[in-house]
Amino acid sequence: MGKRTLIDRLAILADAAKYDASCASSGSAKRNSLSTNGIGSTEGMGICHAYAPDGRCISLLKILMTNFCIYDCKYCINRVSSNVERARFSVDEIVKLTLDFYKRNYIEGLFLSSGIIRSSNYTMEQMVEVARKLRVEHNFGGYIHLKSIPEADPALIEQAGLHADRLSINIELPREASLKSYAPEKSGAVIRSAMANVRYGIESRQPDRKERGKARPPRFIPGGQSTQMIVGADQSSDKDIMTTSASLYSGYKLRRVYYSAFSPIQDSSGDLPLIKPPLMREHRLYQADWLMRFYGFEKDEIFEARQDGMLDLDLDPKLAWALGRRERFPVNVNRATREELLRVPGFGTKSVNRILAARRHTALRLDHIARIVRSLKTCRDFIETVDWHPSRALDLVTLRDRFVPQPQQLQLL
Ligand code: SF4
Repeated sequence: MGKRTLIDRLAILADAAKYDASCASSGSAKRNSLSTNGIGSTEGMGICHAYAPDGRCISLLKILMTNFCIYDCKYCINRVSSNVERARFSVDEIVKLTLDFYKRNYIEGLFLSSGIIRSSNYTMEQMVEVARKLRVEHNFGGYIHLKSIPEADPALIEQAGLHADRLSINIELPREASLKSYAPEKSGAVIRSAMANVRYGIESRQPDRKERGKARPPRFIPGGQSTQMIVGADQSSDKDIMTTSASLYSGYKLRRVYYSAFSPIQDSSGDLPLIKPPLMREHRLYQADWLMRFYGFEKDEIFEARQDGMLDLDLDPKLAWALGRRERFPVNVNRATREELLRVPGFGTKSVNRILAARRHTALRLDHIARIVRSLKTCRDFIETVDWHPSRALDLVTLRDRFVPQPQQLQLL
């Protein structure tokens, strides 16, 4: 077989990077102008969309440096025992690709991950070198997200942090026991220790406000650190997953935990499921994650009505919680505290801010709320306004049925 071209390798290594959810791609229809003499394509390899720390949606070149790997994680298509097609970029090739794509305005940054070649330190050195060359030799000001290798020397991860906007270290699986059986070369303790080092790196470089006039410490991952957890590869319940997330957020000050539904892979181990978990499970986990981070919920509250530790796939977790805690409703939107309002189904953080601002000027009626929230149907039975009370709706045994999506008859043809 002849030497692969850069485009061939880009196709392989961009495809291999798609399993990483920590910068999710937005969906789009397939379109390619090659045959029409036009310009632009939605099929460009390796370009995905992600959200920058300031909330902007940016396009990133999302690739692996290589999909060769000396590890044998059972859930991974790139494991050493997989017979997938392999490829590798050199440091200079990644730098050139990034700069070329950037100059053509295709991308605003780079997301770089890699399989482990030779050793963790060697692989991490190569990734750091990509970031260093971009920043120092080419003055690249775009976004750089590096996936760090937890087993690498902390000094290398530190170097990575000086050049990257964000670092992520994958926790991989929610339970240590699962990690041991599916990824024997990895260790939860090593992963957490690498996260702790990154946290220390961030905190030790926070400028001290009291010491004005002193030189600012060097920039260190302004976008913070994130991680990814695979969902549905092992028997962990949603509660196990949220327990791990809660400990990661509090212990290592992570910006985000990404949940990635396990994708069945070819020639996989018999221990792994043959089908993907429902996509809705991933979605519900993100909703539960938001409840913990922005709505003041404790992890145990989210699961208090669920004996099996699994989130209800039919209802969003806040609505499911409210249906189980009806004694806390209706909430009076004119008098309730911010914390109470945040627990009303259908009220987001923005709607709560708008309610708090509006009620300073007037006593709120139901039509005011209708103009503030996206759907009155979700919140109406849980609130009280000057002209509305849900009366006995909260006592109805059938209240849940109002919110559960109705089953649909499948079409025969
Ligand atoms: S170390 Fe990473 S790339 Fe290698 S097999 Fe494990 S998950 Fe896959």
